[in-house]
Formats: sequence, structure tokens, C-alpha cells
Amino acid sequence: MVRETRLTPDCFIYPLFVVEGEGVRRPVGSMPGVFNLSVDEAVNEARAAKADGVPAVILFGIPAAKDPMGSAAADSEAPVQAAVRALKREVPGLLVMTDVCLCEYTSHGHCGIVDGEEILNDVTVEHLVQAALSHAVAGADFVAPSDMMDGRVGAIRTALDEHGFQQIGIVSYAAKYCSGFYGPFREAADSTPQFGDRRSHQMDPANVAEALREVEIDIAEGADIVMVKPAVPYLDVLTRVKERFGQPTAAYHVSGEYAMIKAAAERGWIDEARVMMETLISIRRAGADMILTYYAREAARAL
Ligand SMILES: [Zn+2]
Repeated sequence: MVRETRLTPDCFIYPLFVVEGEGVRRPVGSMPGVFNLSVDEAVNEARAAKADGVPAVILFGIPAAKDPMGSAAADSEAPVQAAVRALKREVPGLLVMTDVCLCEYTSHGHCGIVDGEEILNDVTVEHLVQAALSHAVAGADFVAPSDMMDGRVGAIRTALDEHGFQQIGIVSYAAKYCSGFYGPFREAADSTPQFGDRRSHQMDPANVAEALREVEIDIAEGADIVMVKPAVPYLDVLTRVKERFGQPTAAYHVSGEYAMIKAAAERGWIDEARVMMETLISIRRAGADMILTYYAREAARAL
């Protein structure tokens, strides 16, 4: 009764990686328990997650073919758009969020359209808007721009409103750090940059005032939920964001954080169930209202 922080399954958002094909359930080597799923398998996984008490999923798409412009990002028949339609039809009551970025779709693996070695911010925003609109048309409840381009939240909000999607919310990856903890995700999404890195648009791990500015701008542009990513190495940022703005706040417990626990547990060096719960409650204690985590199902079942 004197416990100050509660962890409940209804604060979990479960990330799913959707690929082309049927009956595909391909394990991601560096993330035990995580799979690349075809649409039918994503439906099965989401249905099982909902049965475990997890209210929401966020979808990442891995197209069969990539090109320099990331064209498949806005393709109505691409895996994410098809999965949104299937999930809204097959799993009633499940909240469906979609990741909006180009890095899973570009052949060079960058989050935007590039000219030489430079990412073109404003051109990229136009493409992100088209991707977000295609998710909205498919039936997504929330779109979640993760690219960290300037001005994309406002541009997406305006476009959604103009097309009659006023009710669709925006989860903004507002304070997304340039982090080594994303490594396993890039295997799962096949999105490792072919040259350079993401320092031009993602945040320096040393900065917190900048994170607050980024969050403030995204809220002003229309973000409904703001996110800090990764979670555990940035708990102080999470606390400052929640205290300063009081906005619904999400934290992404990212692939590398998950993989570290899994790897140590496989070696018998830590008690996985205990460390999983301690990690998730810490993220809640720091200020997260909701947590994106690959542990969503496991933790929900344990709870
Ligand atoms: Zn990206």
C-alpha cells in the first residue's frame, strides 16, 4: 500500500516488425523472443499480446525492396499498411500505432532523402507526411514519427487534419538520442546506414537542455504523446521531460537494453524475470506513463 509506483500491463506498447509474405516468423538473432512477422503472424502475435493484457502495438515495416527515396514507406500495400488493416479488422480494441520513418525503406539506410552525404530535412518531411497519411488511410490510431527531422510533427498534423484525420494522434519521438543501444534493432529492421551515422539529426547523449527544447517544439507542433529514447540510460531526461511539460510521456526500452538483459540471463549471470521487472518499474518511476518494450508480453504475463 505504501508503494509509490505501479507497473501494470496497460502501460505497455509492444513493437512488432512486419515483413512481406505469409506464415513468416523469422527470429531476430540478437533479440531472443523477437521475430520478423508476416501480416498473418503479426495478427496472431498481437492477438496473443492483447490476451496477455497489452493494449497497444507499434508497427515497423521491412519492405521486400528498398530504394534511395524509400518509396515503399507510403505504399498502401506495404507490410505496415496491410498489417494495420488486418489488425483493425481481426483484433478489435487493440490500439495500433505506426512508426513513421524512412530508414527501413531506403537502400542507404538513412532516415531521410540524401544528397551526397547530407540528409535533406524539408524534402524528407514531405515524404514522411505521405507515409503518415498512408498509415492513417489504413486505419492507424496513432502515427509515431521517429526520424527526428525538424518540423515533421507540425507538417504531419496539418496534413492529417486537411485529410479528415483530426482524430488520429501523434506520438513524437521527441528526444531520440544517437545511441549505440539501437544495434539489434538495425538487424531486425535491416536499417543500418550504409555510410555515415545519424548524428546530424539525433541527439548528443551529453545533452539534456536540448532534449527539453526538442520536446517543447514537438508539443507546440501538435504532439499528443512525447517519447524519450532509449529509456534506462536517459531516465534523468525522462524525469525532466515529465516534470517540465506534464504531457503524456512514453519511453522506449530499446533493442540493446533488451538484448543486454537477455544475453546476461542466458549466461546465468542475472535473474531475468527480476531484472526485467526492476528495469520496467524504474522507467515508470522516472516518469514514463507508457513503455515501448519487447518485454511487453512477458512482463504482462508476470504481472
Ligand atoms: Zn529512422
